[in-house]
Amino acid sequence: ARDAVLAAATGPGMTSDGHAVPLLANIGGPRDVAAALEHGAEGVGLYRTEFLFLDRTAAPSEQEQEAAYLEVLNAFPGGRVVVRTLDAGADKPLAFLPPPGAEPNPALGQRGLRLLRAYPEILNTQLAALARAAARSSAKLQVMAPMVATAEETAWYVATCREAGLPEAGVMIEIPSAALRAADLAQEADFFSLGTNDLAQYTFAADRQVGALTALQDAWQPALLDLVALAVTGAVERGRPCGVCGEAAGDPVLACVLVGLGVTSLSMAAPALPAVRAALSRHTREQCLLAAQSAMTTVSAQEARAAARSQLPGLA
Ligand code: PEP
Ligand code: MG
Repeated sequence: ARDAVLAAATGPGMTSDGHAVPLLANIGGPRDVAAALEHGAEGVGLYRTEFLFLDRTAAPSEQEQEAAYLEVLNAFPGGRVVVRTLDAGADKPLAFLPPPGAEPNPALGQRGLRLLRAYPEILNTQLAALARAAARSSAKLQVMAPMVATAEETAWYVATCREAGLPEAGVMIEIPSAALRAADLAQEADFFSLGTNDLAQYTFAADRQVGALTALQDAWQPALLDLVALAVTGAVERGRPCGVCGEAAGDPVLACVLVGLGVTSLSMAAPALPAVRAALSRHTREQCLLAAQSAMTTVSAQEARAAARSQLPGLA
C-alpha cells in the first residue's frame, strides 16, 4: 500500500484503470531541470529555447547551444525531451532578430516558424546543435515548431529537421487553422503538442498580454475544447500522438477532461505535476471521457468546469 501511495505521489501518470498519460515538464533551460525531476516529470514536453537567446546582441554559438541542450537531455536518460525551436517575433523580441518588416500587430506578425524561415541560418544552427547533443545522449529528443498554420509549413519544417539529422519532428497546434486541418498537418508531422495559451489568444481574438481579456483566455471555453477535440481527431486519423503543453494541462480538472478528449501526454510547469498526477490516479479513463462530454455540452467556461467536476468525484 505504501508503494501505491508513493507511486501516486511521484510515479508515472496514469488513470486509476491503468491508462498511461506521461506527465512532462515545461522548462526554460537547464536551470529548471532540478524542479522537474523533484516533481517526478517523466521527461520534458516543452523546452522553451527562447531564454538562451534573450538579452544578448548576437545569437548563441552552436557549441553554447549544444552544451545547454545536452545538459537537459542528460537529466532524462531514456526519457523524452521535446525541444521547441526558437519562438521569437515582435511579441517576443530579440535584439539581433528583428522581424524583416514593420509590424503593427506583433502577435499576428512574423513570429515563431515564420521568422525562422526568414532567417534560416538561425534555425540551421539550432538544429545542428540539437543533433550533436542528441548523438551524445540516451534521451529521446524530439523537436517541434511554434506558430504553425498550415500543412505546407509543417512539411517544410519536418523535412528541414530530417535533413539536419533529427528524425522526430512535430508541430505545436496553437493557431485555429492548424486545429481545423489537423489531419493534413498530422500527415506531415510525427506528433502534435497543443499550445492552449496561444490557441485561446487566436481563437478568441484576445491578446494574452491584456489583463482585461483574461476571461476570453480561459481554456475551459467550449470553443477551445472543440478545437482540442478537432486536433485530437486529426492526429488519431493518422496515428499520431497529441499532447498538451499550454497552461491548461496544469489544471487538474481540465487535465482529466483533456485525457477524456484523447490527449496522450500533458506537459506543465513542474509545481503543477503532483496535483495533476493525483487527479488522474483517482479517475478512470471512462470518467475522464464522461467529464469531457459533459463539459462540451455547455455554453460557457464556468458551466463547462462545473459539468466536468460533477463527473469527477475524486477531486477535493
Ligand atoms: C502556448 O502557446 O500555449 C505555449 C505553450 O507556448 P508559449 O506559452 O511559450 O507561447
Ligand atoms: Mg505559444
